[in-house]
Amino acid sequence: MRQLQLDINSGQIVEEIPKYWITSDDIPFDVKQFILDQTNKYVLQDEITKIFYCPLCLHELEAHGFCPDCQKTYAIQDNNYIQEIDINKIREFTLENCYSVFDVVNGEVIFYNILAYISYNHPSASQPFRVIQYIINNAYHVLPDKMINLKSNKIYSYAAIYQKILTEEETINFDIDYYLESYYQSQLYTANLDILKNTIYRYTYIWEAKEYLAEKYLLTSNLTYIPIYCPGFEYLSKMHFYSLAFDNPHLIKKDNTTKLLLNPKGKYLDFMLKNNFDYWHFKTLKLCKIKDMALINFLANNLEIYEDILKIKKIDILKLSTYLKDNKYDVTEYYDYICNAIELGYDLKNKQVLYPQNLMQVHDEIVEKKYVILDKNCNQKIQKLAHELETNIYEDVDYIIYPAGSVEDLIKEGRNQNNCLRLYIEKYSQNACQIYFMRQKKNLDKSFITIEVKNKKIIQAKLKNNENPDEKIMSILKKWEKSLNKYPENFNINDIFNHIEEIN
Ligand SMILES: [Zn+2]
Repeated sequence: MRQLQLDINSGQIVEEIPKYWITSDDIPFDVKQFILDQTNKYVLQDEITKIFYCPLCLHELEAHGFCPDCQKTYAIQDNNYIQEIDINKIREFTLENCYSVFDVVNGEVIFYNILAYISYNHPSASQPFRVIQYIINNAYHVLPDKMINLKSNKIYSYAAIYQKILTEEETINFDIDYYLESYYQSQLYTANLDILKNTIYRYTYIWEAKEYLAEKYLLTSNLTYIPIYCPGFEYLSKMHFYSLAFDNPHLIKKDNTTKLLLNPKGKYLDFMLKNNFDYWHFKTLKLCKIKDMALINFLANNLEIYEDILKIKKIDILKLSTYLKDNKYDVTEYYDYICNAIELGYDLKNKQVLYPQNLMQVHDEIVEKKYVILDKNCNQKIQKLAHELETNIYEDVDYIIYPAGSVEDLIKEGRNQNNCLRLYIEKYSQNACQIYFMRQKKNLDKSFITIEVKNKKIIQAKLKNNENPDEKIMSILKKWEKSLNKYPENFNINDIFNHIEEIN
């Protein structure tokens, strides 16, 4: 039980705050050791040369990640433990990793976010010298109905968060961490989870999930609000559905079919357990009811788009995914094709129309038909805008940058560059973004770099196949970007509304 005490500042009776760690000296030795061991696993990779370096001595690593100086091998295949940096500027950076730790004081649970700051710029050393600092970023008192940030005294009611989530249509997009102040994904210190057995966590059984949690990057909400408050959590955790339990236990309440699929006698349960189902797997299974993990993974990667397709056209999802998979077609492209096909009144009962043989080509034709033939207005708007944007033309000895001149130009460029420029036609015609082409002067007819500009800033600049340009080109682009002051003068009110809509 928490004691009551008199708060001298306010003169009110308040609950006593449990003692918590304030400085790095308060952090127990074994926790610091864990943070140090984890932090030392992060290998450095130069962002340009892609060469790996030992984080401890900065020696270039040999094949298989071996450092001859430290006699240590790093897991250079594991993306989770690679920090990309500019190795030449190593002394100018502070790298940071976040860790979380539970502690129990007189039966009360405290949850910490601890940052490890790593720098190589020790002022008294002539050579780069590695220093690690531990900072207690946040400390929360976790209670049955709320969390208190012990540093700021802010109180977060679980009921308020839960209500907010249920009223949001797409639970998955809801930014819980905003409410719990944690912008960090952290690794949990799992060695002491048993201390939670006699606390408010007693029914969560999260100490049994040690192995699962040790390999995850977690938000504060995953370990506090969710296990303590979400109605589905205990059930899912006991069944060892850890991905579902820690990420999206809300769905068990929202979704009636959940119980059916998670039924201990149900025919999918073993399959789901064996494949460590997460939320997206689960939603996919609901959609296609098939025990084929490769297919479920394929669909789950773009599930939202498949759901959008189903909203506009009842379609056999298995047939569609096989068609896309076999032909290596992109589902986003297919979605855009189907939207346009419906708008133009195509006969989707015809199999040739529903599953065309050359999706890219048919897609381009339909877009051209829509914008060039049917929506002449759109093409005219683009031509007019391009004319006004000519003030932004850039030219040097080797290169020229100029605005895209027509719908046809955009379609051609998209086809040449193998990018999705067609999806920008409408936006460009409304001046919600501006599209420019960069070309090499010796080869003016050949697509080189496609550029999207918005609010005088370059949003994207891509070579063929959406690859990034090299540094030399980027420096030209950055220079050009600074000169982008001239906006079309007759900016009409609709354009401004479009802008506002996008910003929102
Ligand atoms: Zn080394």
